[in-house]
Amino acid sequence: MPDFPRLVVANAAGEIFDLLDFRAAGRSGREIYPLDPVVLIPLPESSRLYFLPQRAPLGFARKDRSAPRCLVDYTAVAAFLPPGYTVFSVAAYHRQSDAPLLPIYAYSAVCWYRGQFHVPARRVDDDVKHDPVQFSLGKIKRLVEQRRQQFPNNRLVSHHGSNCALRYGCPNAQNFFLNRWEAPIAVSGACNAACVGCISEQPPDTVQSPHERLGFVPTVEEMVEMAVPHLESAPNAIISFGQGCEGEPLLQAPLIAAAIKKIRRQTGRGTIHLNTNGSRPEMASRLIDAGLNSIRVSLNSAREAVYTAYYQPRAYRFSEVVESIRRARQHDLWTSINYLSFPGVTDDENEWAALSRLIESTGLQMIQWRNLNIDPDWYVDSIGLPAVTKAVGMPLLLQKVREKFPQVRFGYFNPPVAGNQ
Ligand code: SF4
Repeated sequence: MPDFPRLVVANAAGEIFDLLDFRAAGRSGREIYPLDPVVLIPLPESSRLYFLPQRAPLGFARKDRSAPRCLVDYTAVAAFLPPGYTVFSVAAYHRQSDAPLLPIYAYSAVCWYRGQFHVPARRVDDDVKHDPVQFSLGKIKRLVEQRRQQFPNNRLVSHHGSNCALRYGCPNAQNFFLNRWEAPIAVSGACNAACVGCISEQPPDTVQSPHERLGFVPTVEEMVEMAVPHLESAPNAIISFGQGCEGEPLLQAPLIAAAIKKIRRQTGRGTIHLNTNGSRPEMASRLIDAGLNSIRVSLNSAREAVYTAYYQPRAYRFSEVVESIRRARQHDLWTSINYLSFPGVTDDENEWAALSRLIESTGLQMIQWRNLNIDPDWYVDSIGLPAVTKAVGMPLLLQKVREKFPQVRFGYFNPPVAGNQ
């Protein structure tokens, strides 16, 4: 049998199989290339394979790697990987001009190699807190019901139970009800950005967002009632403001600051964390003064133009995002970036230079290499990516960061950093 990564396709009957005479292709930015076996890992457990409607797979004829071929009789297939894995190549396909946008997921290339599915990816975080094997839906349903009876008037408990844990399958919400690890506290239904791939709000002419925005502003008491028991009793306890089901928590900073102060009057245990777009440094300072322990600032790029094209910030600039990171580090918070990664953009030489400057100027301590969930064509068009870029490849980028900044931790999840864990 030939020993090369083979192209995986689907037929009209929905069957997925490999083609013996075609090498699998991957995509970075707008460029298509044969998948390199060196970067492949077996398809992780709990991954999902997707058909990509009205998109024909691209592959390379076994004996001719000069140009990709478009196999119009088949449908392209992509893989969605579980949390903890960073994708190195996006699925390669040719889209029909009238094809609908793909839902808001990440679309890894997938191939057949040495008798099993493989993907170009790496596990960047060993923490198991989002591993699907950790969750039993039946148990979570029982625990949600118990907590709702325990806190019948707490809208946050109800929201994180019915919507987040049971409807969206949010692992952090499920872990709250399982009384362990990181738990969410959603606060803000509004946002001051309009990210192209926002998962909680989309304009009607795009795609459906997988989450709906929080429809109320919780009281300080509701937040404290959720947070304190979790911080006091959960192993590796973290409570996190800023969740997928809300907008930007810094827009509710005074409320969060009041909650943090009240929580800390009741317990010094555990980590109080903020997931944010970092748009308001002065509000970040208020939370730092109140007792915040850890912050994660999300960005798709360390270059202002690429950031702005994707985030579409309203009434703030990229420089303020950088300032929030800097302030957090100056005040000794655990400081991470949620670096929304996309092959061909994240590993661009100019991006690497900008990331270096960002690390040097802020002292940030951790990069969470999370895959950007978005239709690949929608993304590259939105940021105006040229046809050819100077991408070094995701594996080499990770190596470069590791060599130049050995003190920067790699991961995918917020680690516990404060209190008696
Ligand atoms: S910052 Fe978050 S909530 Fe706001 S638009 Fe972007 S993804 Fe959506």
